[in-house]
Amino acid sequence: MKKKMGLTTKIFIGLITGLIFGLILYPIRENVFVSKVLIGFVFQLGGKAFISAIKMMVVPLVLVSLTCGAAAIGDVKKLGRVGVRTLAFYLVTTAIAITLAITLANIVAPGLGLDLGTLDKTEYTIKQSKPFVQVLIDMVPTNPIKSLAEGNMLQIIVFALLMGTGLTILGDKAKKIKDLFEEANTLVLKLVEIVMKMAPIGVFCLIARTFATLGYEPMVPLAKYMITVLGALVIHAIVTYQGMLYAFTGLNPIKFFKNFSPAMLVAFSTASSSSTLPITIETAEKRLGVSKNIASFTLPLGATINMDGTAIMQGVATVFIAQVYGMSLGLPQYLTVILTATLASVGTAGVPGVGLIMLSMVLQQVNLPVEGIALIMGIDRLLDMSRTAINITGDAACSMIIAKKEGELDVDVFNSDNEDAEIEVA
Ligand code: ASP
Repeated sequence: MKKKMGLTTKIFIGLITGLIFGLILYPIRENVFVSKVLIGFVFQLGGKAFISAIKMMVVPLVLVSLTCGAAAIGDVKKLGRVGVRTLAFYLVTTAIAITLAITLANIVAPGLGLDLGTLDKTEYTIKQSKPFVQVLIDMVPTNPIKSLAEGNMLQIIVFALLMGTGLTILGDKAKKIKDLFEEANTLVLKLVEIVMKMAPIGVFCLIARTFATLGYEPMVPLAKYMITVLGALVIHAIVTYQGMLYAFTGLNPIKFFKNFSPAMLVAFSTASSSSTLPITIETAEKRLGVSKNIASFTLPLGATINMDGTAIMQGVATVFIAQVYGMSLGLPQYLTVILTATLASVGTAGVPGVGLIMLSMVLQQVNLPVEGIALIMGIDRLLDMSRTAINITGDAACSMIIAKKEGELDVDVFNSDNEDAEIEVA
């Protein structure tokens, strides 16, 4: 029986053919048919419609998934100390991840030298930057419906977090509404999945249009962008997680990676922390020595709210997009990005591609052109796979540290030669 081609393969085919097509068309880009029909109509339509479809998902996704995420955090309170520690670990590591990403992106400056002015004629200007205190004040919506209509992300986030908290406090009294949000969440994720099915065509059109207009010019900046994201992911995994793991447990970091690698590989190939969750839990219990008790709480929560790899991509992408549009971000904007991306991480569902949708929300928050996503969309799948592996590694590192603190870490299991500990890959 012939195996059906997976979405990842299709996206890569879209990427490569788009690239080849674009480069073939570049020398004849002045031709009327090429410029008016292919670049100006077909690629424009396929690419922009796809970006619009992504944008369409942002407000519903943030509203429902954050409400559900906040309701999940609400349950954390019942777990007392373990819950608070886990939450603190997740939020702090995400903020570190995005700060690291922004710093590295500013050092490497992947977007300098590329000018997207040719591709998008619209002039973008950074809004007069507000003092950070005003950013904080403006986070509180005076009219949540207006926030939704205008797509004011920080206000939507605040409102959603509040609703999630309210739902947890009310418990059974508001069960129907909570169920409604959970079902709406399932629905929105289904819509994302449908939109992602368009990705191969969208990616083809976006990449073909970019390269047909700019030739080889974007290649080096894009490669630098990819390397910066991958570099930040590796640094975060080695320095932040392993540093913390070593400081709190004294265990061998290399052994950690060796033991946890089956789960990382599954995350890499599925680009979904949620689908990897069963394997993450099993690997944590059988190879890292985390007790069932701790693993079954920290890991599902992590797969829902802790997305450090995603935050890293968003940090680098924000700087990259600002650079290619020739806009400079100041400290208040960076603080806003850190704040938004950390909160966005809570609302990012662990399925492929959602990180990119959430990126458009981060960009909107600092008034960067969402169109910039077009450039990185084509190569995002590979980064999605890589960041998902880091997302779940962060969950596992946290799980081990919490288990150690609670006296629920079996060091013998961790140290044993558990090569043949059966991990069932579904
Ligand atoms: N695919 C990621 C995950 O499942 C989320 C994302 O960054 O798109 O963890």
